[in-house]
Amino acid sequence: MTEEQEVFIKHLRGRGLKRTAQRDLILEVFLSTEGHVTGEDLYHLVRKQDANVGQTTVYRTLKLLTDSGLAREARFGDGRAHYEHNYKHQHHDHMICSECGRVIEFYSPELEAIQDEMAARHKFELTSHLLRMIGVCVKCRRQARGRKPAGKSASKELERAARVAAR
Ligand SMILES: [Zn+2]
Ligand SMILES: [Zn+2]
Ligand SMILES: [Zn+2]
Repeated sequence: MTEEQEVFIKHLRGRGLKRTAQRDLILEVFLSTEGHVTGEDLYHLVRKQDANVGQTTVYRTLKLLTDSGLAREARFGDGRAHYEHNYKHQHHDHMICSECGRVIEFYSPELEAIQDEMAARHKFELTSHLLRMIGVCVKCRRQARGRKPAGKSASKELERAARVAAR
């Protein structure tokens, strides 16, 4: 048995829930994913293995995985919850490109320390945080820059045409 399975079974027991083949499968499929998956993504992946698993079961199990600390919920501003591995994974935060949806993971000990300090200053007991930075990634910025010279040369053409017409 893997450590993750042990964590999960212990969590189920604590909730008075039984270990089932479907729950085991959902955990297994979740652990096989990389990066960030939505409940819907996970549901489709699970269905590939076993078409009898219902969407509600997948969503409920995902909630159990999150509560047990195996999964972590992240929100990227598209209105959907994304999940990623959390167990023995270093904490990180996200930058999300508003153009293409690309997600960049980063970790800054300085930023983490500032957040703790802010919480302490407000006598706020911090249990978790979701830091999301929204912007435009380098690829999209390059693409936008690539479009500009074309626009400029087009307007130069117009300027030239206007000059010619004025003569
Ligand atoms: Zn953080
Ligand atoms: Zn982008
Ligand atoms: Zn992440």
